[in-house]
Amino acid sequence: MPTSSNVIHLASNNVWPFALREGGYILVDAGLDGDLGGIEAWDALVEQARGIGFAPSDVRAVVVTHEHIDHAGLAARWAAEGAHIVAARAAWPALVAGYAGYWAQRNARLEELRRHGCPEDAVEAMAEAGTRLDLRWESCPAHALEDAAERSTFALADGRTLRLIATSGHTPGHLVAFVDETGELCSGDALLPTTIPTPGLQFPGVIAGAGLSGSGDAPRWPSLPPFLASVEAIAALRPTRILPGHGDAVEAPARLIEQFVTHHARRARQVRDALASGEALCAHEIARALFPRLTGARIAQAMIEVIGHLDCLEADRLVRCESAGGVLRYALDS
Ligand SMILES: [Zn+2]
Repeated sequence: MPTSSNVIHLASNNVWPFALREGGYILVDAGLDGDLGGIEAWDALVEQARGIGFAPSDVRAVVVTHEHIDHAGLAARWAAEGAHIVAARAAWPALVAGYAGYWAQRNARLEELRRHGCPEDAVEAMAEAGTRLDLRWESCPAHALEDAAERSTFALADGRTLRLIATSGHTPGHLVAFVDETGELCSGDALLPTTIPTPGLQFPGVIAGAGLSGSGDAPRWPSLPPFLASVEAIAALRPTRILPGHGDAVEAPARLIEQFVTHHARRARQVRDALASGEALCAHEIARALFPRLTGARIAQAMIEVIGHLDCLEADRLVRCESAGGVLRYALDS
């Protein structure tokens, strides 16, 4: 019997509330902060919460599935309301850095695309597409944060238990929330109903302040290898229903997981095939070979997935990477 039909919609994002046994509520995701076309996100959230039957002061804890602006933007506001902000340790630097970290990471991402051979017009298109100036991300005070690894279970009303499970990949600090008794899974952005979530290009060191200038000198965190392992771990939970970070609940999770796995198996093959001639190629050349018609931000997005699969090949020691003329090139290691 599904138990979480309650959902709060903020633009395309979902916030999932659960009643706690001790009284009050726990939310999965903080929600985004900004002006939603005439209404502030916070006001929209409070209005919908009232419709469900709770007020902000009833919220004891807010779980942040991951350190992205549209899931964590309101964390500081919830902290100010007295809620504990529960997040994976790896997400903390981004939650504390707020918009400054978001911006630094965005700049590092653009620089990384250039290092992988992305032409300037596509970098610029990506910069424009990724600029969400309409969203805010206030810094969350560190004292409000609780480590999801230490406080990982919450007793829900009716005897159910909400369990937080680390699922790094979409970000280093990604987690999912699982209801053991019903098999419901709040998937954050690990699994989404209408798209295969991006592994992104991630620079935890840049966010942590090692290079807030966004110079891209902090190493990139290879995200796809752990992402694939995390989805495998989610599959092993055999969820019965997925409550995603965006879009409608998914009643057939096995099929969704299968789509994710098939998608990446195919992409892994395509990337290997593109390298089969033995010539050293950059991620842009590989993405062009796979998707000859894509341009602008879409080819840059395709590159991000290709880079993820190059990370997988590198982790398995199947490719070697060298820098030639400032561009990273990959060749199969024979
Ligand atoms: Zn995300």
